[in-house]
Order: sequence, then structure tokens, then C-alpha cells
Amino acid sequence: METVSLKLRKQKNIALIAHDGKKQELIAWCKKHQDTLNRHFLIGTGTTARMITEATDLPVKGYNSGPLGGDQQIGARIVEGKVDIVIFFSDPLTAAPHDPDVKALMRIAQVYDVPFAPDKATADFIITSPLMDEEYEHEVINFRQNIAERAENLKEQ
Ligand code: PGA
Repeated sequence: METVSLKLRKQKNIALIAHDGKKQELIAWCKKHQDTLNRHFLIGTGTTARMITEATDLPVKGYNSGPLGGDQQIGARIVEGKVDIVIFFSDPLTAAPHDPDVKALMRIAQVYDVPFAPDKATADFIITSPLMDEEYEHEVINFRQNIAERAENLKEQ
């Protein structure tokens, strides 16, 4: 499949999300990495964004709350090329009503080759990477081409 070359920015758009059982862990992680996070742009699902802002003074632009579509909004930003990293501390021990949205967000991050941290250890590795302060070029499926080919192929069925 044909690809296009896209860039993760030097100054990154970082999405921050935590399930309820993981919110304090994410806040502590944000405090620990506050200096690095301060150099980038931060967005998050509603409750997570508000709690981080209150606890750290980091400016986090909040979308809707996760169960009300916030994960889907962040997924849409990934599709638009507006998210460079996703830090999502999900809770593997608690069932969530919006589990399909969580899966959809993980999937779309994979489709667009966007770094995704589901836990603290992965987030630590990402945030301390030298690539945090560099542009990063990656190859993503050429969706224009993909649509043109699919429309053409499906005509013949
Ligand atoms: P919240 O959403 O930040 O509004 O709690 C997070 C989620 O549960 O996906």
C-alpha cells in the first residue's frame, strides 16, 4: 500500500487521558515530568484535563469527558494529524461503559503510527526519549490513494 511521509512535530501535541482509577497516577506522572511537558502543547479528556490543570498549573485543553465522547474527539484529532503522542493510563482491572471508544482510540493511533503509552513505564520511556525534542518523520497509509483504489475496485463487483 502506498504511504505518505508525515511528521510528528518538534513541539508536540500530547494527549493526556486517565481512567478514574489511574487519574492520581497520571497527575503524579505529570508533576514528575512537568518541565518537559511545559515545552509542548497538552490536550486531554474533560475530567483528566481539568484535574491535571488544577494540580500542576500545566495548561491542558480539555475536550468532552471520555464516556461522553472525549476519546472519540481525540481520535478525530489524530486522523487530522493534530496529535503527536497519546498518554492514556487505562485501568485494566475495571470495566468501563466506553470500552469500544477506548479500543477505537488505540486502533486509530496505530493506524496513524502515533506513539501510545497505556501505562507509566511506557510513558516514562517516551517522555525521556531524545525524539521528544526532534521532528520525527513517519510513513502513513496514503488515504487519498486508498479511497481512489477502493472505489475503483468495488465498482467491478
Ligand atoms: P475523563 O475521561 O478524563 O473525562 O474522566 C477519561 C476516560 O475515561 O476515557
